[in-house]
Amino acid sequence: MTEKLFDTNPYNTDFIARVTEVADDYIILDRTLFFPEEGGQTCDRGTISFDGRDIALDSVSVSGDDILHHIKGASRIFSTGDMIKGHIDWAHRFDNMQNHTGEHIFSGIIHSRKGYDNVGFSLTETTCQMDYNGPLTDQEISEAELYANQIIWQNLPVECRYPSACELKDMDYRSKKELSGPIRIVTIPGVDVCACCAPHVGFTSEVGILKVISHMNYKGGSRLYIACGKRAYLDYTRSFDSLTRIGHMFSTGRSEAVGAVERLCSKNRQLSSQLNEALSAELKRQISSSSDNVIFTSVTDRNILTDAFNLLKESRSGACYIFSKKSDNEYSFLAGGTDIDARTLLPPLKAIGARGGGKALMIQGSVCKDAEAIRAAVSR
Ligand SMILES: [Zn+2]
Repeated sequence: MTEKLFDTNPYNTDFIARVTEVADDYIILDRTLFFPEEGGQTCDRGTISFDGRDIALDSVSVSGDDILHHIKGASRIFSTGDMIKGHIDWAHRFDNMQNHTGEHIFSGIIHSRKGYDNVGFSLTETTCQMDYNGPLTDQEISEAELYANQIIWQNLPVECRYPSACELKDMDYRSKKELSGPIRIVTIPGVDVCACCAPHVGFTSEVGILKVISHMNYKGGSRLYIACGKRAYLDYTRSFDSLTRIGHMFSTGRSEAVGAVERLCSKNRQLSSQLNEALSAELKRQISSSSDNVIFTSVTDRNILTDAFNLLKESRSGACYIFSKKSDNEYSFLAGGTDIDARTLLPPLKAIGARGGGKALMIQGSVCKDAEAIRAAVSR
């Protein structure tokens, strides 16, 4: 059985331990600070120093009462009884502690306000994801987020202890699964009481800040992603930099940047509409100023092409084609005629590699050939 030093000393980074079991790719120690991959979060990273070497851990997992420290070729390095020094990657550990404690605060608030349980939790190197078994509105999420930050600012203690079986009987606490053996209860007074085995920060202010990054409906409930502490700071920095750059593009400040982009989008829609009107008029002029049944154009707007094709069909007899240039040697096409079955026009086009299909009134598709080859194929 491995003594879990992280249970009572989550802020320690170094420890001495004795190797109690050696296998090909792992060792078991009598005690450890390395938190294993458990409860949806990644394991601690770090090194084991032995025989003058610092050996990086591949991973840490749990097996019954033992914690396995995975190192490739462990049996060639260690023997039972060896004394080692362990060192955990504190930046990674603290990042997990901040985000994990943030989850407790947010889930405690959702539980007390809505009665929902956290039914799924995943804490990876880049994401902190929580699932709740009920729907949440944008406003409920914003209010819970604000209150979570107020709890952080209050600097409440995060207490971890093993209550007696008698005490536990009368205790109302959150738990993601049926538990056996001694149960570790993590309490943030007035906010959350939850069974949990992971390392947490000692006081809520160490979470720093909690931001809901995104949320969605999920299996009749809600899925949320949060960022706490350094992750929230880095996310803020990226967003700040982006908004500042957008502001610079419009020679304005961050607070005016969204308005400037909205005005640009509106202007862009107006210009697109004017451009389409001009292109449509030009294409119609091209059709009425000749008697050619085969029209090549650089217009690509689908509505303009359909309108022009209808005009072409109505003003000609026989097979009519409009080829719209997508790139140097690629055209999309519409073909048909008022007095023919459009499907009869497809074989000559397919003979030069066209792809497409359609009904008696019109066929459509694309072909990768130059205008000369296309014209030759449809003129046969
Ligand atoms: Zn926890």
